[in-house]
Amino acid sequence: MVEQVWSSPTVHCIKVGLPQNPLRNLNVYVICTPERNLVIDTGFRRPECRSALWEGIGELGLDLSRTSLFLTHLHSDHTGLVWDFVERGVPIYMGRVDWDYLSGSDQRIKWAGMEERFGREGFPPECLAQQGEGNQARLYAAAPGFPAVTLEHGGRIPMEDLEVTALHTPGHTPGHMVLYLPQEQLLFCGDHILFDITPNISVWNQAPNSLKDYLNSLDAIDELPIRAAFPAHRAGGREPDAAHRRIKELKAHHAKRLEEIYQAVAAAPDSTAYQVAGKITWSVRGLPWEEFPPHQRWFAMGETLSHLDYLTEEKRISRIEQAGCAVYRV
Ligand SMILES: [Zn+2]
Repeated sequence: MVEQVWSSPTVHCIKVGLPQNPLRNLNVYVICTPERNLVIDTGFRRPECRSALWEGIGELGLDLSRTSLFLTHLHSDHTGLVWDFVERGVPIYMGRVDWDYLSGSDQRIKWAGMEERFGREGFPPECLAQQGEGNQARLYAAAPGFPAVTLEHGGRIPMEDLEVTALHTPGHTPGHMVLYLPQEQLLFCGDHILFDITPNISVWNQAPNSLKDYLNSLDAIDELPIRAAFPAHRAGGREPDAAHRRIKELKAHHAKRLEEIYQAVAAAPDSTAYQVAGKITWSVRGLPWEEFPPHQRWFAMGETLSHLDYLTEEKRISRIEQAGCAVYRV
């Protein structure tokens, strides 16, 4: 399904459904000028996404010899089909930090690093083993090693007269980037700002305080004039003040979450992160914590850890690691 969402420049949105995923769909935006087209993100590497994406591109009649692809961040729902574009000779643009992460010699080492941290933080080993099975991020990822022009903060994507700037907004992933059109004041926000769901902020091997990175990135974007924002999932963002309003809400959400997690640690000193995760409120189809499927526990654990890391760095709580297991206390 293709919808025109902006007229100057012309921007279309291809809705790519994400089956059995709470995000529901990925919004693939296509910026079209008389000279060049820019596609933003791809969908998972699974047949349902591939057919929706290419049907949309066909409907738009894009000339691929004048088209580029930009990937906002490394997550598989955004990058899964990148090779479809590589094979058709489309140049790929991506932030250097996430590209480095994806092109690393062995992805298994990276997952192993995360699993080791989760293990030390009390995540049950049987849950660790099971969570990979339902984790779409692993199942539908692109093969590593695709070629890309890597961008640093402020890097431009060649679109002839249209100024399109990539801004580094770490937090959701270490190398997440948004695209900003300064003349038109348009923001393509990837997963940095979502309007009817909250972007997941997890922990990463190379990012010691991803929540702090995220909050700083929200502040940086808040300084830009924004007429309309285009989120990668769900709806929202088209009214002139929507992005700034949403940034306030997202900051308030994390402030509240930090307080809830601080109180959970204060009430039960020497809890593991996993125990803390079980005590805070989640909205997983109204299920109690004990009934969360393993991959949902993995997400909840990542989110809890990013908040615990933040509180630890602020010295509001301390992290004590003994015999390979970490606990927290105020
Ligand atoms: Zn994402």
